[in-house]
Amino acid sequence: MNENKAIEVLDLRKQYGETVAVDGVSFTIERGEVFGLLGPNGAGKTTSVECLLGLREADGGQISLLGVSHGAKDNQVRARLGVQLQTTGLLNQLKVREQIELFASLFPRSLPADEILDHVSLLEESKTATKALSGGQKQRLAVALALINDPDLIFLDEPTTGLDPQARRRLWDVIRGLKEKGKTIMLTTHYMEEAEQLCDRVAIMDHGRIIELDHPARLINKYFKETAIDFVALGTVPREQLKALPGVENTLHENGRVTLYSSDVPHTMSGLLEMAKQDTLNFKDMTVRQATLEDVFLKLTGRRIRG
Ligand code: ATP
Repeated sequence: MNENKAIEVLDLRKQYGETVAVDGVSFTIERGEVFGLLGPNGAGKTTSVECLLGLREADGGQISLLGVSHGAKDNQVRARLGVQLQTTGLLNQLKVREQIELFASLFPRSLPADEILDHVSLLEESKTATKALSGGQKQRLAVALALINDPDLIFLDEPTTGLDPQARRRLWDVIRGLKEKGKTIMLTTHYMEEAEQLCDRVAIMDHGRIIELDHPARLINKYFKETAIDFVALGTVPREQLKALPGVENTLHENGRVTLYSSDVPHTMSGLLEMAKQDTLNFKDMTVRQATLEDVFLKLTGRRIRG
């Protein structure tokens, strides 16, 4: 195993009875990388991360953290890991700073509370009771607790789930700040936009396997040379006619929302307008956009990451 790698996983396997949760997963994460593990519910992300952290015994495969085999069992390696708690693990009665100080007392070495609170933009809330924090502030506190020992390798499990867009963006800034400091981050998320914004590379997991692994932009480029034209169809959708429009390579229909993947936007658009003129199609809210990681995910797995 290579000391320059933050994480190396080779042929990881884990079964629960008959259920194969992780089915031969291999990947390497470089130091300083933000790496995203993406996949729908039940894909095997949590099980993989739990095996990495030594919280679950794998059935097979090799894991190395920070160049050490079975690193999660090594005290020196463990001292360099940061693991984000779920917000349900926060101690609600404590004030924000008290919570940081309590966790800091568990480590032989810790960063000053002010530095951590500043990093997650909670300095002004340091005397606020945890239970009085907003959802976004709680999530940032949960991330803060993972930073107390100034870890080199940080595991974040769906850090922005349930947050509004503004709160999500603030957490993205926190994660970008950690990357700037040279930290390695392994992130699981259901949000494709988040992965696209933050991750140097993403692994897309489904049914216990990694089905793609690359830089988000490279994945988009690999699977989509086309542009997406989205609209809401009013009334029946003439699917065959849409498929036959010039430039249309692929179509997607979901609850009245239609996406056409077009390699020739002007011709597709004029075909659409012609259909509208002839009243064979009524639509509203049309947008033309580049394909995203969400489109790649749909193409690879046949479903949205969140159903
Ligand atoms: P989510 O996004 O919902 O957290 P996930 O990708 O993290 O999903 P896992 O939680 O690792 O997926 O689950 C992978 C598979 O293993 C699923 O089929 C799940 O039902 C099963 N599984 C997970 N934990 C257990 C367990 N303790 N006992 C039995 N089956 C389990």
